[in-house]
Amino acid sequence: MAFSDLTGQNGIKKTLSAAVSERQSGTFMFIGPVGSGRHAFAEEFAKALMCDDPGEDGACGKCNCCKYYDAGTTPDVVKVYKPADSKNIKVSYIKETIVPEAILRPQFSKTKVFILDCDYLGTESQNALLKSLEEPPKHVVFILLSSNRDMVLDTVLSRATELKIEPYTNDEILEILKKNVPDCPEQTARIAADNCGGVPGKAITMAKQGEDVDLRRKVAELFLEIPEASYLKILKEQAEFMNDHKDDAVAIATDVMLLIDDLMRLKGIPDCKKITFTEHRLKLEKLAASPKTDMVKLGKCVAAVKEFLRALEVNANYDAASCAMLLKIHEELK
Ligand SMILES: [Zn+2]
Repeated sequence: MAFSDLTGQNGIKKTLSAAVSERQSGTFMFIGPVGSGRHAFAEEFAKALMCDDPGEDGACGKCNCCKYYDAGTTPDVVKVYKPADSKNIKVSYIKETIVPEAILRPQFSKTKVFILDCDYLGTESQNALLKSLEEPPKHVVFILLSSNRDMVLDTVLSRATELKIEPYTNDEILEILKKNVPDCPEQTARIAADNCGGVPGKAITMAKQGEDVDLRRKVAELFLEIPEASYLKILKEQAEFMNDHKDDAVAIATDVMLLIDDLMRLKGIPDCKKITFTEHRLKLEKLAASPKTDMVKLGKCVAAVKEFLRALEVNANYDAASCAMLLKIHEELK
């Protein structure tokens, strides 16, 4: 792996490349939402800092330090990610392990690297770290990660070079999906790319969940019932299904989006071959052929699903959000 193996974020790659070639020390902070690739960039940066012979593209991948890094045996990188047993990293761990360790010289490499996920560092832990960040020994690099800049103390931020992960373009997301979910059908990948808000981790989840065939069939059946169903039936049966499948909410939303996409295609070209839900073609064709189904209404259905996805993101009331989506679709297609 090298920087060029990671998709996008060219500005960040340039900064990392310069930091490695100039053997900069100090603190770097990757800021970006969950699933934006903060960890992948941090790991690649750490590896390049370990490497004996790094180039513009980061680690050489061949030297002993690179091999130790890949094997996870280098003693010169300390990674502090989400703790398994508690919500946050303990203050005592920062005070008794990280701070004293930062004074010691690296054993094999020229640099000692600490990767710390600030999402799991409370105020007290961040404060405990300040002294080390303030006067870092020349051989130390701190790589901090954060999904929420507001949760990081100003005193920490002011000591860090901020590396903001920008939303990825659609093409970049599609490229990442090809690498990570190679069997994902083209249409699912496109829907995932269009609706992930530029966050590859989210697109990968959507693409992977789209593979659940039974769930997909059930979603199609329920969706196709919506236009004819009564208001009460929707509030009871459809809403109950949504409630029973809370963990699959993103997959369901993706499937509904694909169903609407199929309707749009069939509306445009009645015998369109390229649809996702071929098993339900007859019913989809019938619905698309209805004069009551038009592009404007289908567009509003898409908006309703997007609204639902947004509600999931901000942890809004799940039942209310799913009912709102179902009723909106019913309203448009009945
Ligand atoms: Zn190397």
